[in-house]
Amino acid sequence: MATNQRYRWPVASAALLAALLAFFVGCKGESVWPDHPGPKVVVSFAPLYCFATNVAGEDAVVKSMMTTTGPHDFNPTDMDARLIRHADLFFINGLSLDNGFAETLQRGSGNRKLKLIALGDRIPADKLLEADEDHDHDHGEADHHHHEGHDPHVWLSPEMAIVMVEGIRDELRSADPAHYKNYDRRAVEYIDKLRKLQTDGEKLLAGKKDKKLVTFHESLSYFARSFGLTIEGVVQKKPGVEPNTTELSKLIGLCQEKQVRLIAIEPQYSAHTSADAVLKELQRKNAVPDPAVVQIDPLETAEAGALTADWYERKMRANLAALAEAMK
Ligand SMILES: [Zn+2]
Repeated sequence: MATNQRYRWPVASAALLAALLAFFVGCKGESVWPDHPGPKVVVSFAPLYCFATNVAGEDAVVKSMMTTTGPHDFNPTDMDARLIRHADLFFINGLSLDNGFAETLQRGSGNRKLKLIALGDRIPADKLLEADEDHDHDHGEADHHHHEGHDPHVWLSPEMAIVMVEGIRDELRSADPAHYKNYDRRAVEYIDKLRKLQTDGEKLLAGKKDKKLVTFHESLSYFARSFGLTIEGVVQKKPGVEPNTTELSKLIGLCQEKQVRLIAIEPQYSAHTSADAVLKELQRKNAVPDPAVVQIDPLETAEAGALTADWYERKMRANLAALAEAMK
């Protein structure tokens, strides 16, 4: 009996091991990437997918690591590791937004040909904004990206997006020199669209006298600079965490003192309750004439099915239209 049991286990383990091996071999590599010539490109999150795919066209394959989970909350899975194992280029935002897990994935991949490019590093230092350190935040969560150095939300400025697109063009050119003319042409075409996005946004907001806002997540500094808005205050340093009553009454005081009537919230995080509380209090106190809440998406997440080449432009235009509608 005892002898039988001793022998049964290795047989069972061997069968299990064989099944597991077959499973992993079956999942590995080839199935993650389509059989398509040209560079295999991974981007960390949604806006970079649009930038890269517009330049890549038919000459390269682009995949986005993140869709519905944004860079604030992302934890790579085995699927992401497999993507990286056979990729040629890995574009990230940089500026401490997505460097951490990207470097870990690169180190763990054993992929020596992989080139990791932080596109934010191409933006001249004098165009970068400091991360706002004036507000209260929880130092217990040391890895949160808003805590030190530069504000990473550069993609929300079309001007900064253009610098990133140029970076992608240059890397695709050197990875695939045979198609450099195609990359150049598509980059020119896409940059034209981004310039148009900028001028259309300026036109939409041109007649508005009052361009002041308060926000619940400090993601809008570059966006504000691009379109002449003034962010008078940021209440919530950590996305998804409701501000406390002290922070809320500070915000209400700020709106009253600086006469800010617009409260910007983003659809992904649950600041709605707080925004409604601020709104009600401003109305009750008659502190600001006609206060309002406006939804502005920082483009950190996308529904997987909605992530198309024109997603960035569509989302930016929707933000600008919402602002134009709410502003006076
Ligand atoms: Zn953010």
